[in-house]
Amino acid sequence: MTQQSTFEDALFRLKSLASLADLKPEVIEALLHPKQMLEVSLPLRMDDGSKKYFSAYRCRYNNALGPTKGGIRFHPNVNQDEVKALSLWMTIKCAVVGLPFGGAKGGVTVNPKQLSPMELERLSRAYVRGFADFIGPHLDIPAPDVYTNARIMGWMMAEYESIHRTHAPDVITGKPIELGGSLGRDDATGRGAYLCTLELIKKMNWTLTDIRVAVQGFGNGGYHVARLLQQVGCKIVAISDSQGAIYSENGFDIESLWEEKQQSKQIKGVYCNDSICEIIEHSAITNEQLLSLDVDILIPAALEGVITKHNAVNIKAKAIVEIANGPILFEADDIINSKGIHVVPDVLANAGGVTVSYFEWVQNRGGQSWSLEQVQSQLKEKMIAAFNDVWTLSETGGHTLREAAYICALRKISRVIEAQGTRQYFLTR
Ligand code: NAD
Repeated sequence: MTQQSTFEDALFRLKSLASLADLKPEVIEALLHPKQMLEVSLPLRMDDGSKKYFSAYRCRYNNALGPTKGGIRFHPNVNQDEVKALSLWMTIKCAVVGLPFGGAKGGVTVNPKQLSPMELERLSRAYVRGFADFIGPHLDIPAPDVYTNARIMGWMMAEYESIHRTHAPDVITGKPIELGGSLGRDDATGRGAYLCTLELIKKMNWTLTDIRVAVQGFGNGGYHVARLLQQVGCKIVAISDSQGAIYSENGFDIESLWEEKQQSKQIKGVYCNDSICEIIEHSAITNEQLLSLDVDILIPAALEGVITKHNAVNIKAKAIVEIANGPILFEADDIINSKGIHVVPDVLANAGGVTVSYFEWVQNRGGQSWSLEQVQSQLKEKMIAAFNDVWTLSETGGHTLREAAYICALRKISRVIEAQGTRQYFLTR
């Protein structure tokens, strides 16, 4: 059997979950088709004088709820299919947390680690020239994603402003604070996942200090969720990056691991007191072994498709909180559900990032700068409300949390599509 593409997998799941939401066939049909997909070849003058071309994409999947929103990824594996899947998930995610945004995503097929800083700036600006009429503050608002960051967003905003001869901080989010970025954006994804995890722990009547957590991926999302959970007493017993994983029965000190990772670029089982770091007792394991550890909560925070029908049978965690987009393939859903594992789905668990991006856009449009306390308290309010809407629907309807999240989102989108008239309206006139 040929392997399904990421977008096919996303569509299969959408179709299956849409059938639970009692939607009109026209609404489902509308959601199966991305609204606009643009592919552009970006010419880039390299530092050695040569010229190279890079494939770049932007998909505006659905704008029923508002201008589309989604990050730009710079990664060698970026392709049209992945961008479409990610933009579909953004559509669902924005609806789950009640943001006035549709979903989009963009990317460039490139290994940014092989570019010099000046090449990276030229590529970032070339992306905006390629998509200058496709994005805009009322149309489509990009943000950072894997291997893009605040500085890149700043270059992109400057290029957009220069092309359109206007001041437009609201064209892009995740910018440096000095250029109109929001306080609290850096840890927003991890914090949103942390808030969902705390809510889940409360619902399950678990005791925080008994909770053992494994985190796959020690980047922006993985680091902050691990740090915040450790602060409230959970034990982070395993953590990994692309090189491998480490395990300690007694748990790790996350700040020590992070400082070490910043310096040596490796995950090492250390405990640091000021600048003095010592190795603590731990073992090296593989990323695959991390996924099947006997822990309370597993947090995949790296890549799509890491949990498949082949390894789902080995999962022993009681709950999975998806920070990565699409870490569990649709084919593995039934196995995970039949084991009674609670999955806080990506479209809810990692929505903290886009929520604070929305706050940034609101601040830019109103000429405001919110305090960190304001950002964090509004994030908390939105995440807890979204979690509880999903939880309540899952309890009352006998749904999994993923099913409930999709039903909540699809009903919101459906109401807008239906307001414009579906078959039933036109036949009865
Ligand atoms: P990041 O680049 O900061 O970190 C990714 C981490 O994953 C790194 O530690 C990397 O070493 C590790 N990794 C890569 N390949 C791995 C592998 N094969 N096994 C184990 N670890 C591996 O990225 P991030 O921003 O933390 O994003 C992580 C995931 O979360 C992505 O799927 C992203 O789409 C999703 N996400 C991130 C945000 C955000 O705001 N950062 C928002 C929503 C969703």
